[in-house]
Amino acid sequence: LSDRLTAALQTLTRKGKLSDADIDATAREIRIALLEADVALGVVKTFIARIKERAKGAEVSQALNPAQQVIKIVNEELVGILGGETRRLSLAKTPPTVIMLAGLQGAGKTTLAGKLALWLKKQGHAPMLVACDLQRPNAVTQLQVVGERAGVVTFAPEPGNGVGDPVDVARRAIAEAKHAQHDVVVVDTAGRLGVDEELMKQAADIRDAVEPDEVLFVVDAMIGQDAVTTAQAFQDGVGFSGVVLTKLDGDARGGAALSVREVTGQPILFASNGEKLEDFDTFHPDRMASRILGMGDVLTLIEQAEQAFDQKQAEKAAEKLSSGQLTLEDFLEQMLAVRKMGPIGNLLGMLPGAGQMKDQLAQVDDKHLDRLQAIIRGMTPAERADPKMINGSRRLRIANGSGVTVREVNDLVNRFFEARKMMAQMAGRFGFGGGGGGSK
Ligand code: GDP
Ligand code: MG
Repeated sequence: LSDRLTAALQTLTRKGKLSDADIDATAREIRIALLEADVALGVVKTFIARIKERAKGAEVSQALNPAQQVIKIVNEELVGILGGETRRLSLAKTPPTVIMLAGLQGAGKTTLAGKLALWLKKQGHAPMLVACDLQRPNAVTQLQVVGERAGVVTFAPEPGNGVGDPVDVARRAIAEAKHAQHDVVVVDTAGRLGVDEELMKQAADIRDAVEPDEVLFVVDAMIGQDAVTTAQAFQDGVGFSGVVLTKLDGDARGGAALSVREVTGQPILFASNGEKLEDFDTFHPDRMASRILGMGDVLTLIEQAEQAFDQKQAEKAAEKLSSGQLTLEDFLEQMLAVRKMGPIGNLLGMLPGAGQMKDQLAQVDDKHLDRLQAIIRGMTPAERADPKMINGSRRLRIANGSGVTVREVNDLVNRFFEARKMMAQMAGRFGFGGGGGGSK
């Protein structure tokens, strides 16, 4: 037990940069996690290289052990790549906004059309669905069914005319949307089981006919590594401006998200997680990052460790206060922390009873604090730790160094001793500390 404790304390007090060995060891684990999440190998490699670079520059954290710290960096980087702040659907200046869906058969395009329609309707839009999948006999009916469920109009070719021309249907649909004042049009297209030329050509023709504001590439999260080739084929063949991940209710770890994002550079806008129309949401990069890493527990631990560390710092400060061991270094630290919160006058003014202290408050202005800060900075670390050693000649040196008079230095030192004494008395009176806080 004591061995472990010593080791833990060592990591806690270590300073400087993260070591290469620490980074490499954790990077290996991250690599495995990403591959298990089905992130494509090439993407894993570039990602790990970037992480190592960033981790090398990072200062050793006082709150986390090195492995935790690298994982924290990985998580931040993942969230950043997956979108940072999520992009919103871009709407046309002159309606209708045209959204075209593309992707392999079974990816979830038709279902998504219904989900989008319902989502848009809830946001106050009047969407219209367009059936441009005329490949399979029941595809049109399927879209009509989801349209009805979402309570929106579906534009479809009249039945009985054999296989219609999807480009023609798309064109007529846009005209109808303008006429009937639908402000958003969602165009469902056909997909094949694999990527093929004919499919791409048809999708490109529909795209040229409707000039979409958004082309959404719909991809099944379960296809894992194949997402890279499929996404690339659709980017070359049709081009797209955003990605929708589907079937996230399955057990896929979501590696496809990172792969598609890295390879195409296009943002992920939405996520589908079920067959019902409500199983749909805007994409959340942080949730996806923790799903890909598969280290939800570790991430929670990291958060807790950081919070606990902050608390320990605060406790340590309180302990010092009550035991009369406060140093000028602590004083400076506290002052800087408080000043981060805004002008000191405002801060003190918010305290109850501050009204009667107006005169004193007026003296505590920020310029005065600047001078105090300069004086403490002009001291050596030894002087700050043990202010008793600050004799006459030291006071003169400090005054000259920080551009103040010796009287100001005297003032600060004397008031510091007074304050320290008073705080220790107060702490004793309120019953905390005293014995040195040995509760753990
Ligand atoms: P399309 O061929 O791209 O139009 O795909 P469909 O919309 O027809 O969906 C194919 C199948 O996947 C259907 O059975 C859908 O119910 C199902 N599906 C679509 N999205 C999801 C999803 O997010 N989760 C689950 N579990 N199933 C989905
Ligand atoms: Mg379909």
